[in-house]
Amino acid sequence: MHDFIPDMAAKRAELTPKDIAFTTYESGEQWSYERVNEAANNLAHSLKELGLAAGDRLGILTRNNVEFFVTLFACQKAKLVLAPLNWRQPVAELKPVIEGVGISAIMFDEPSAVAGAQLAKQFGIASIGINAKAAHSFDDLCKGIGKPINAMVDANSVWYLLFTSGTTGVPKAVIQTPKMAWANAINIGQAIGLTRSDRAVNYLPLFHTAGINLYTLPVFLNGGHSTIVPQFDADALVAMIGRKEVSKFFGVPAIYQMLSLRDDFDKIDFEGIKFGCGGAALAENLIAKYAARSALICNGFGMTETGPTAFYMDEASVEAKIGSVGKVQSMTNMRLANVPDGQEGTGEIQFCGPAITPGYFQDNAATDAAFTLDGWLKSGDVGRRDADGYVYVVDRIKDMYISGGENVYPAEVEKVLVTHPDILEAAVIGVADEKWGEVGAAFLLPRPDHNIDTAALTEWCRARLAPYKISKSFHVVDDFPRTAAGKIRKPDLKEIYLNAQV
Ligand code: ATP
Repeated sequence: MHDFIPDMAAKRAELTPKDIAFTTYESGEQWSYERVNEAANNLAHSLKELGLAAGDRLGILTRNNVEFFVTLFACQKAKLVLAPLNWRQPVAELKPVIEGVGISAIMFDEPSAVAGAQLAKQFGIASIGINAKAAHSFDDLCKGIGKPINAMVDANSVWYLLFTSGTTGVPKAVIQTPKMAWANAINIGQAIGLTRSDRAVNYLPLFHTAGINLYTLPVFLNGGHSTIVPQFDADALVAMIGRKEVSKFFGVPAIYQMLSLRDDFDKIDFEGIKFGCGGAALAENLIAKYAARSALICNGFGMTETGPTAFYMDEASVEAKIGSVGKVQSMTNMRLANVPDGQEGTGEIQFCGPAITPGYFQDNAATDAAFTLDGWLKSGDVGRRDADGYVYVVDRIKDMYISGGENVYPAEVEKVLVTHPDILEAAVIGVADEKWGEVGAAFLLPRPDHNIDTAALTEWCRARLAPYKISKSFHVVDDFPRTAAGKIRKPDLKEIYLNAQV
């Protein structure tokens, strides 16, 4: 069945042609909706002339810029599939990712020019440079054919692919459709009250869902304005917040943590800005630290597979329901496995609805494994619903371990550890143990200028945790192995642990 919706850039150019869609942070260059649409029309024609046909994949390696979004809309018009690649990965790591989905051309920015040229050569495909040396120039491809495209967009078509961050294994290419983008825009739009007068900032990497969908694409679909920063830059963000150039701000926990450690944290004026967060557990003491400065961070829960916005916290309940990810939003159905609808309980969080991916690209086995027989996406996370319907993420099922027959959720232990005055961040993993089957190994990042007394820590934990939950070993680290989205890579910690044992 075809379900057609309007071409997103063309529709916005029709509704609000002269409004500013994007500003480039460094140069201050502004792009109206009309200009974005015109560039996307021209690029769509040019890509077809280069030989790309409906369904072909276009790889892209770039820091954040307007060109990325123009390309995203051009792909929608030309029915191509955009595959944003992680520019932090070396060519050797990118190769299998590209082989997995197959690309017909590659676009890249200047810092990725060498990698991009190598990949173009290895795969024998066309290269397109965004202000970078390549067979074709992005700017030239956007120049004046002038023939408008107002595409009929199949809401269920494959629009772009996102590779999951790989915190639990090999990245999989998650299909993203135009319908998912709209459903997410409604979910997040209602949750934060997005309007045409909103301003957001785009700085999270574009090869993760947050870079595209929190909040840039929803802001675009609602006619708002996004400033694009090439990559995370704490000074730029603080300056923009100070100048009131941002009305809606999204960050992952690692970003909030980093800003809170700045010497000027107490001077940042947060007034009038709405703050959202998601992607990983948000420490309660961090919520409290911002709340003390009148900045209420609304925590949400999302996955690449869910658009991403699924749960979102309402501002009024941030302090009363501290630690909750809120309620599931309008366009998404949620159930907790084995918990009757609406009742209190704990179970796996499962989703269905228009914001949920149809599956993994050309990978039926992975798709089948991710969904229940009746079509619900299995999140792999355990959630607890309280009497008022608020949900708390307990932990990933995969991270749970069993010690002496008792289930231990590392997230619960980590939450306690980070309340210790010397500990900034903690990550607990289950490791093999002769006596208990498995026990916890805790990796600890100290607060700046603090030392952790690991001998005393067990005593401290005893007052706060059941004995079987207390980690049997503590390992102080300078930093954690992380994904580009700032998430701790627990499989890497397991490897570090095992290597240290031999
Ligand atoms: P991979 O799928 O490769 O393992 P990933 O699971 O990190 O990577 P993402 O789609 O980026 O892939 O992240 C989704 C996951 O992030 C969720 O399944 C959940 O475990 C975690 N998560 C997201 N938001 C929250 C939150 N607010 N609190 C706790 N965990 C969260």
